[in-house]
Amino acid sequence: MHLDQARGMLVGLAVGDALGAPLEFTEAREPDNYLTQMVGGGTHSTAIGEWTDDTSMALAIAESYQSTSEFQADRIQRSFNAWLRDGAFTWRGKCFDIGHTTLSALNTAEKHGYHNPYAGSMNKYGKGNGALMRMAPVIIANHNNRDKCITEAIQQTLLTHGSNTCVDYSVALASDLFACGELDKYEDLDLPNLRLSKNTDRHKVMSGGYVKETYECAWWAIENTTNFEDAVILAVNRGHDADTVGAVTGQLAGVKYGYDSIPKRWVEVLKMHDNIMDAADCLYHLGNGFGVMPNRQEIESVLAFIPQLTLPDFKPIISWIGEESYPIYHSAMINLNREIDKPCWSGDGSFGYSDQSQDALKKGSLKDIVDFFSRYRRGTQWGGDRWQADVFEKGDVMAALLRLKEFSYDRNSPTTASIALR
Ligand SMILES: [Mg+2]
Repeated sequence: MHLDQARGMLVGLAVGDALGAPLEFTEAREPDNYLTQMVGGGTHSTAIGEWTDDTSMALAIAESYQSTSEFQADRIQRSFNAWLRDGAFTWRGKCFDIGHTTLSALNTAEKHGYHNPYAGSMNKYGKGNGALMRMAPVIIANHNNRDKCITEAIQQTLLTHGSNTCVDYSVALASDLFACGELDKYEDLDLPNLRLSKNTDRHKVMSGGYVKETYECAWWAIENTTNFEDAVILAVNRGHDADTVGAVTGQLAGVKYGYDSIPKRWVEVLKMHDNIMDAADCLYHLGNGFGVMPNRQEIESVLAFIPQLTLPDFKPIISWIGEESYPIYHSAMINLNREIDKPCWSGDGSFGYSDQSQDALKKGSLKDIVDFFSRYRRGTQWGGDRWQADVFEKGDVMAALLRLKEFSYDRNSPTTASIALR
């Protein structure tokens, strides 16, 4: 999976959700009347580009990976409840769209103090689509590990949906997304006739809240189109649970065709687009084994040192007495080290720091720059002549800080396309 596909999956989820939201609980439309623009309105009076519970819950799952590098079930369940009760993970600051099965599970988890976060009802008649709609984060965070990907897909399902049917369809969709939108062989599953035949008449394609219908409708839309735009339009215009079938189709089409294939007119109006992109980037790098990257706030606190380091004599940060003989012992430098340490970076050794590295620093990825600081700190302990030479004579530290600054403020330029800020 490439970064563009990871971004496509998560942003695609939100775009499909937002496009379909005004059509939720409406009848299917005929092709000459298809909704093709972000319009807002509908049952929930959504703003143009505003998404619903599907995206909110996906962002709540993503937050666990972004903050802890892990799938932490109790943390996610608390985040779900923060969404329900306080409007966390929403654009309007309020939860306005929640399925019955999900509501019941969240109440159960809250009532029991989160001791068992897996609060989904195991009633075999529970067959809602609420876990399919928020699948992307576990796939992106585990895009190099199929076993863990499937395991966490099941875990995120059990938070709210405990029936075998719901789990089976989650495994199917997780397998599809892991395979980047190609048909998976479903080694772990014994579900016959998962998909409708491609030629199924559209009037026979249902799109209610039943997990089977949502899965079938999304795949039918994928198989009958050749690009992101047409797939999502075809799916949401089946009406009924249009936002969720949009979110599922958006995930499949997003990972199949990539972020760049999503129409700009939809991306431009998507609420909290940058937050969603940041989450996708962070999870993708986590899936590459790079640890959690620094966020904007951490980067900005490091960049606050730039003016001090540009002074010719160091005086603001070095007193040259006692314990503070070297910059590393100065409180300002200790804070800098602490910020740099936060990502818990485990470099893969691809960035070789050497005397000839300044050109590489100027063009490096965020991963390279964090790697530089991590190695530099370990190698020099920020002390002695090496520090002074690198800051003032060679300028390597400054080159790295300036490159870091580019990531902070110019995240959409082609040269910074692979950055990971959350
Ligand atoms: Mg919804």
